[in-house]
Amino acid sequence: MSFSQGRPFLAIPGPSPLPDPVIRAMARPSPDIYGPELAGLNARTARQLKRLAGTGAHLAAYIGNGHAAWEAANANMLNRGERVLVLVSGHFAQSWADNAEARGIVVERIESGPAAPDPGQLAERLRQDPAHLIRAVLVCHIDTASSVRADIPALRAAMGDHPALLAVDAIASLGCDRLLMDEWGIDVLVSASQKGMMAPPGMGFVWFSDRARARGRTDLTTPYWEWTARADARESWQYWGGTPPVQLVHALETALAMLLDDETLPAAWARHEGLAQATWAAIDAWGAGNPGIAHVVADPAARARAVTALTLPGAAGLRAWVQQKAGLTLGIGLGASDPENAMRIAHMGHVSAHQHLGTLATIQAGMQALDIAHGSGGVEAAASVIARLS
Ligand SMILES: *Cc1c(COP(=O)(O)O)cnc(C)c1O
Repeated sequence: MSFSQGRPFLAIPGPSPLPDPVIRAMARPSPDIYGPELAGLNARTARQLKRLAGTGAHLAAYIGNGHAAWEAANANMLNRGERVLVLVSGHFAQSWADNAEARGIVVERIESGPAAPDPGQLAERLRQDPAHLIRAVLVCHIDTASSVRADIPALRAAMGDHPALLAVDAIASLGCDRLLMDEWGIDVLVSASQKGMMAPPGMGFVWFSDRARARGRTDLTTPYWEWTARADARESWQYWGGTPPVQLVHALETALAMLLDDETLPAAWARHEGLAQATWAAIDAWGAGNPGIAHVVADPAARARAVTALTLPGAAGLRAWVQQKAGLTLGIGLGASDPENAMRIAHMGHVSAHQHLGTLATIQAGMQALDIAHGSGGVEAAASVIARLS
């Protein structure tokens, strides 16, 4: 017997669930791309994207996903043979580093495992670089694979007056977790449309400071990827390096209005905090007396608010059960040493308390059905967290 008839629910850490108004915003014909309609749309969306990131910095938009935005940032920040320091807190930081290395950038890594990058270690390494050979520090605000959250202000402070640029991947955190680009001293910020922005996949963004811009044109960039041409666009098509993805931009405009104007960012951050706390309470209860069920990130302060990674014996079977029997899709144990027994629960974007309690209750039902040993009271603990939210 299956109970999956009804609206399917995607609790994977990207793409996140699309709000109905966002889906509807895409159902329209393509306009004249040289006309005033698109000029206004691009300008409004760029303004909203800067609000979202808390910045007055430059913005370059790309028809691409997060991987495209990574490559754009790397190519525009660095010349071939220059050195970057990557703070590796999981699979995604590793992949960003791999992209840099493949472009001929010299990559140095500081691994922190499934824990937040250590500001002390960063400060120490930069102290050993009096010649300022390290040109940029790359870090994921949230590494979506491990669900580690980095303390960006602490890392910025640790950089002192070393002139390296601070480049932050906020693909999984923008809109979910507090992030203030200018206040935190971030030089280059990278994100994509399909996670906390609640929009379809296909749009990548790079915000860059005057300091990053002052580096000038690098030998790694090319006319299509070069960021100032997009940031300084005069014609509406120039924002996107050619024909804009019009229907996607309409979707994004609708999603950002919901997030920034209807809900407001502080409320969205608080909602994600509540959903994260509810998830952690359930995992703590399930793991009591069952050490196989455990958080990947031990320290709550270093946990993402948009996704939670955990180990769970039989996770692969559980994921299949909740999908086939109950219409719920959970995230795979990406980057885990034992992916069969690891998974990720997303609480990212357009997700209410009611939906998330459904996710946690369905996981509990699956564990019961599959005889996966777990402590009792997980759903009750999560419900109590939600009950305490004001
Ligand atoms: C999803 C994600 C990416 C990759 O984005 P794509 O759009 O899949 O290319 C990179 N970094 C982080 C932190 C992510 O969450």
